[in-house]
Amino acid sequence: MNNTELADILLPDSTMTPAQYETKYPPRKAGIITRFAPSPTGYLHIGGLLAALVEERIAHQDGGIFYLRIEDTDKKREVENGVSAIIEAFSGFPIVFDEGPVDETNEKGAYGPYVQSRRKAIYQAYCKELLRQGKAYTCFLSEAELEGMKKDQEKSGVKTGCYGRWARHRDITPDDAKARIERGEPYVFRLRSSGSDIRRIEFTDAIRGRIEMPENDFDIVLLKTDGLPTYHFAHAVDDHLMRTTHVIRGEEWLSSVPVHLELFASLGFNAPVYAHISPIMKEDGTSRRKLSKRHDPEAAVHFYHEAGYPVSSVIEYLMNFIDTGYEEWRAKNPLLPVNDFRIDLSRMSVSGGLFDMQKLASVSQDVISRTTAEDVYESALTWAKRYDSPLADILTQRRELMLSIFASGRGGPKARKDIAKWSDIPSLYDHFITDDLNMPSPMHEVLVSAECRRLLSFIHERVANTATIDSAFVQGILKDAQKEIGVKGKALYHPIRYALTARESGLDLDAIFMILGKERTLSRLKNALEG
Ligand code: GLU
Repeated sequence: MNNTELADILLPDSTMTPAQYETKYPPRKAGIITRFAPSPTGYLHIGGLLAALVEERIAHQDGGIFYLRIEDTDKKREVENGVSAIIEAFSGFPIVFDEGPVDETNEKGAYGPYVQSRRKAIYQAYCKELLRQGKAYTCFLSEAELEGMKKDQEKSGVKTGCYGRWARHRDITPDDAKARIERGEPYVFRLRSSGSDIRRIEFTDAIRGRIEMPENDFDIVLLKTDGLPTYHFAHAVDDHLMRTTHVIRGEEWLSSVPVHLELFASLGFNAPVYAHISPIMKEDGTSRRKLSKRHDPEAAVHFYHEAGYPVSSVIEYLMNFIDTGYEEWRAKNPLLPVNDFRIDLSRMSVSGGLFDMQKLASVSQDVISRTTAEDVYESALTWAKRYDSPLADILTQRRELMLSIFASGRGGPKARKDIAKWSDIPSLYDHFITDDLNMPSPMHEVLVSAECRRLLSFIHERVANTATIDSAFVQGILKDAQKEIGVKGKALYHPIRYALTARESGLDLDAIFMILGKERTLSRLKNALEG
């Protein structure tokens, strides 16, 4: 028996040859092809979103193609409806996949299937070819044997893993392999590496520049006992056949590049451009660590959806992680759409940016301050319908009131920047929504002074006698109060603000009068005077 005969017996699912696949998935016309390739865990990490943003921009800013591929070869990591959950996590983000799964069963695009577990026959075809050429072999080492080997290696002070003389089955004969298989021994397919860790390889990472590493000499697993490929093998086969030009992924894969370059070469493929993104970091006491799925709720993209950060704010903030030139560009072009900025991977930080919630909030306040009151209203309502139904009711039932609140202080260089996320709205504006003010005692103490009472009575009388409350009216009575009562500055503004809102700060005074309207203003002044 020879390798070809063995391959035909062992890998019966592959009905097409690599040459046929090459014809079926021809090189693409579009220049740059990128992909986002998550496992269907149902969880989208903010670092995953960052990677997807980079991948999307790198492709689309040059008219390329960006697609979604689901990497479900590790069955342990899969959750039910994980694909839909990933797609859902992207909802609202202007990150459009040109190809890939659209839900659990359907997909679009001519380079699929885009779910790895549906590509078994393809991996088999390529593994078969490697087996035929003697570049792969069947390995029967059990878990226990591999464990024992590791211990021996540690004892002898050599590198651990399956390589060189330790890879005991790399020269197994087809007959021996067949006999073992007939006895029911479980096995995997391994690469017969031709590398040596004495030699070095060099490549250029689009983010990190020139990198040198030892060549791969591990006989890595290609197909596991369940017949599914490892990440490494699937990466080479898929990114080749889907014609990915730029593999942009997490830094954790950087150390595997020598394996991947050997795989591409063994398979006769051209290697893609690699770009390895540093993880997003978090300050933890005095040290820094990766933002973690397990420990940090803010690691999940869902966290931002739930808190009501507009997706445009999240993107605006993440742009600073993507390109160190972004902040300067934005300062010069405050109103241009974010996609007018051209990202350049060589300007991406290699040390991993620090996630800063306060910075996000301030970026988001800027972003929201540049939109219209109607946009704020509509976005807040859409959010509230899903996450805060009492707020949705208020927005619906008191549309005019809420619109006038959102409209106040909007626009211009000194635009009000108070809302960072839609969930801020109730606490920022509850004093307009409810008449139950709950005056804090320090404010109460200020309001009972004789001077304040004179001031509030004066204001009360003027409001009671007016037909219209507009800006001019409010400015007029403030000026008159200054003259009549002899107070100015804080001594004038604070008591009025306290009486009307029970707050230290908020909208401009004239907006407060106008939003409350005559009756509510009068009753608040009266309450303050009687309180
Ligand atoms: N499924 C891999 C991961 O989630 C994808 C890495 C890649 O983009 O190649 O880490």
